[in-house]
Amino acid sequence: MNEPIVSPGASLSRPMTDSFGRSISYLRVSVTDRCDLRCFYCMSEDMTFLPKADLLSLEELDRLCSAFIAKGVRKLRLTGGEPLVRRNVMTLVRSLSRHLDSGALNELTLTTNGSQLARFASELRDCGVRRINVSLDTLDPVKFRAITRWGDLNKVLDGIEAARSAGLAVKINAVALKNMNEDEIPALMQWAHGKGMALTLIEVMPMGDIGDGRIDQYVPLSLLRARLANQFSLTDLDESSGGPARYVRVGETGGKLGFITPMTHNFCESCNRVRVTCTGTLHTCLGQEDASDLRKPLRASADNELLAAAIDRAIGIKPKGHDFIIDRRHNRPSVSRHMSVTGG
Ligand code: SAM
Ligand code: SF4
Repeated sequence: MNEPIVSPGASLSRPMTDSFGRSISYLRVSVTDRCDLRCFYCMSEDMTFLPKADLLSLEELDRLCSAFIAKGVRKLRLTGGEPLVRRNVMTLVRSLSRHLDSGALNELTLTTNGSQLARFASELRDCGVRRINVSLDTLDPVKFRAITRWGDLNKVLDGIEAARSAGLAVKINAVALKNMNEDEIPALMQWAHGKGMALTLIEVMPMGDIGDGRIDQYVPLSLLRARLANQFSLTDLDESSGGPARYVRVGETGGKLGFITPMTHNFCESCNRVRVTCTGTLHTCLGQEDASDLRKPLRASADNELLAAAIDRAIGIKPKGHDFIIDRRHNRPSVSRHMSVTGG
């Protein structure tokens, strides 16, 4: 039988389409699994981090991102852990900004807890970053400390102001937490909308062992939406970023409110994203254990052919979707990785 003729290097620029016909154009890169906070729903207090020796260097991360961009990634989000605690992370941001200049990349952005933003906001803007997501679950300093175990709310609020002053559009992400911030959602929304920032609510997901079960944390967003609808007029918006959030316009504030409901709705049919960790492991589904090592092909040769072929193989077996369950029978992690490893 004749082997199909494949030209050498074909993988390098081959667009990434999975076996369900979904085109991959969005890459999230966790540049470190370390963090300066310890949000109780994300990691345990004595979290074990990946050995530093396993980390890709900033140059390797750049090469990896650039290989994905050559294969059609148009949006790149840096995340973590806390991306802004990775030493010299701005070197990576600056070097990746060349893909914005060339037009290969439409957007370079990041998700941050905001604690280091005051230091980096202007430089981010200077590197072509225009929008960022800041995770903030409460405006109450005591609750903030309880949620993050030792965080200082004022640092985050200063960081948000620095970002806004630098001209960055800020979206606030808040994880809805039973008996913790669920009653504060209207106030958080009014605060965010008052500053022209959208707010997106997220259901807590059973990712990684955090010491305790998830039952005491999980509150379905359908419940919070129904409560909000008693107080505010919510109009569904059609727009979708191809992502999991569904948005409404809030009549009273004029602002946008998003709902990310991985627990109660499955939005996998339109999934356009994959994730890479700081050790070069590719996860093609947030809610599955699937993993492909890209560090080995990356290090095996100076050109990107082996790497691109490994990416193609992994995309070819991207799972159809996830099924998270939190109830009394399923109070263990659905996925053993913590969110801080894959990033959000
Ligand atoms: N440290 C940065 C931050 O907090 O924005 C980036 C990484 S963090 C893992 C990304 C997002 O994941 C945050 O919005 C965080 O609240 C969310 N997150 C963490 N653990 C989660 C979980 N178990 N379920 C749902 N969201 C989670
Ligand atoms: Fe750190 Fe973000 Fe996880 Fe909080 S959610 S512990 S800030 S990685």
